[in-house]
Amino acid sequence: MDLTPYNNSVSNDSYNLRQSTPYLITLNVCITKRNPNVYNRIGMWPSSTLAQLKALIATYLRIDLPVNRFFLEILDENGYQWKIIDDSNSSATINQLQLRPESILSIEYYDKIIPGHQRPLYSNNNHELMLKLCQKPLDKTEYTLFKMSSLSTVGELRKQAYAAFNKLSKNQPIYLLNEDNWIKFASDMDDCTLDELSIQSSAFISIEPAEENFDSKLPTGLCGLGNLGSTCFMNSVFQCLSNIPEFNKRILAFTDEVNAPIIDEYKKLIQKIWSGKYRYIDPSLLLNNINDNLPRYASYRQQDAQEFMNHFLHLIHAEFSTKDTVITDLFYGQIQSSVRCLACQHIEITNESISFLPLPISNYNQKTVLYVKANGEHRLVSIQIDASIHRIGNLIDCFLRQHESTLTRERIRAFEVVSNQNKNQYENYDSFSRIRDGELAFLECPEKASHQKYIFCKFVDHSTNQPFRPPIILVCSSQECHYIHLSDQIDQLLGHLCSMTNAPPSACQLYWMDRHGNRYKLNGNDELPNLSGIVIEMDAEWIDIYRVSNNINYSSDNSALASLLSDFFREESLDGDYHCLKCQKSTKARKKSNLCLPLPHVLIIQLKRFTYDIYSNNKIDAYISFPLYGLDLNEYLVKDKSHENASNSSTKYDLVAVSNHMGDLISGHYTTYAKNIQDGNWYLFDDKIVRKLNSDNDILTKNAYILVYVRTT
Ligand SMILES: [Zn+2]
Repeated sequence: MDLTPYNNSVSNDSYNLRQSTPYLITLNVCITKRNPNVYNRIGMWPSSTLAQLKALIATYLRIDLPVNRFFLEILDENGYQWKIIDDSNSSATINQLQLRPESILSIEYYDKIIPGHQRPLYSNNNHELMLKLCQKPLDKTEYTLFKMSSLSTVGELRKQAYAAFNKLSKNQPIYLLNEDNWIKFASDMDDCTLDELSIQSSAFISIEPAEENFDSKLPTGLCGLGNLGSTCFMNSVFQCLSNIPEFNKRILAFTDEVNAPIIDEYKKLIQKIWSGKYRYIDPSLLLNNINDNLPRYASYRQQDAQEFMNHFLHLIHAEFSTKDTVITDLFYGQIQSSVRCLACQHIEITNESISFLPLPISNYNQKTVLYVKANGEHRLVSIQIDASIHRIGNLIDCFLRQHESTLTRERIRAFEVVSNQNKNQYENYDSFSRIRDGELAFLECPEKASHQKYIFCKFVDHSTNQPFRPPIILVCSSQECHYIHLSDQIDQLLGHLCSMTNAPPSACQLYWMDRHGNRYKLNGNDELPNLSGIVIEMDAEWIDIYRVSNNINYSSDNSALASLLSDFFREESLDGDYHCLKCQKSTKARKKSNLCLPLPHVLIIQLKRFTYDIYSNNKIDAYISFPLYGLDLNEYLVKDKSHENASNSSTKYDLVAVSNHMGDLISGHYTTYAKNIQDGNWYLFDDKIVRKLNSDNDILTKNAYILVYVRTT
């Protein structure tokens, strides 16, 4: 027990000595109600409030919960019964509550109790719990189920959880997911039963992340931000901005003596985030300053992240004493609009500053699928579709016409692919509208003769046995198949893996599976009875390289984003009549927008998912693919002689961050994916939680709302 109450040395006698002056009241906080004899002593002033007492207890017990989520109970003088301390007035003082010195207190959680019903103090309700043990620490995406009795103790749970990873629990804590927070139970909670802690079936349990995850080798900048009540939209924006290296550099270099409270607080926030000292911090001081300037954000209601980003950058801009600031320098570009009078052909040109590009997606009519070729290559492709296309077979036809005109429909199989595994095969008559975006894959089948059959080749990580890329379809002989029948196809795949990574052939091991699921090493001359599949294992060090190099193949030209940009900059007819200044006629006109040089250092793109009209606030959930590297704006530039000299600088952009929005506008949640400048990996920032993404492919989701690109040099 390493809790260190500051009045450990105060004995009972000292109260009597100091009756006339303010004195500390010693209270005892139980770790577990099962054993009221195990407690910590804490000291409170009689004038302290109940809320302060609860906050202190939460700190001492290391319970990561706001004070309104638990209440206090007190053991009666006879030591028989726990009584609830009235919580209705949290500003009541210790004195008013008449808490005796040396009272024994315990806590209980609100959220597990049905209103109007009190949970029994000592439950004999022994039942089986099915818990979800996270495969990766503090990451609920993958888990295994395991059974525990509700009367098992935290200590037993801890031992079993660590044992599941072949680890001895050396008093490391165990974590429980409560809504979005991981609650830590240290070994001093070992005597508590799961029942006492109200742990229920389906609860997520995690072991402690390995030490090396938090040592000095880890890059800095991986610091979560506490949610101060529906402030995930702000956290998402701060994490996006925090991963723009040039912006950080300029903010950290800011030394003006002028009154700039927001820049000062933002600078402190960036310093803390990049100090490497904190796993997460609270941005409350910065928020207070923002709220002073923009009272609408003081309500702690869910807000639009893009609007907030714009407001926040404007506040920073306003605190500088000059017109040209780091904000105009990095974030501002210019759009030139030319309106052409169709009567006299006169062109009226206007320039407008922009700090972001709002791209409408309401007319978006593409479907993006993962295309996996038989030779090992795979990439996302966008398929243009019209409203009459609903079935997989028609989508395949569109795909073939637009991308692979040499193949036929029979050579493409449609699958649901999740985490690089085939989950479902779709038939041509299946509708694709309900297939989740990003999970539809077209697999190319090799040509097949009548005595041949198709099998899958899977690609797995040698150490984890998890697939690291989508499977491929191979063709083999239906009977008496030998390795020789497959060797050309396998050699091609090994060639693909090794050429993408420069790995030696020894980095891959080959196995074959029979139809009973048995796995055997694949050797040169083997006969392969009942062959049902091939497995290629690769060492983890090469897989990381493979993932990175393979993502460069994602084409930026046929991304959905490129098509939205083309739409945005396309010449269009103006609605209604246009009054021409030259010929003074009321006439028709066409308008075209272009980007001016110099292009902004930071390009912020808003995918306009929210549509507001009188009747509804709708969100468009379309999956919009976008390139991670090399988004080129060259074709949208003003084509003008005066601009040509200035065009030495790059027109290409690399993605550094994405603000994601899940759910609807009222009850939604924001997170950020951002690329860490130090190790080049992508991380998820979800309020307090920061974790590395398994694959760059995870960045492309239908939740992408704000894309932050930085110009390449
Ligand atoms: Zn005119």
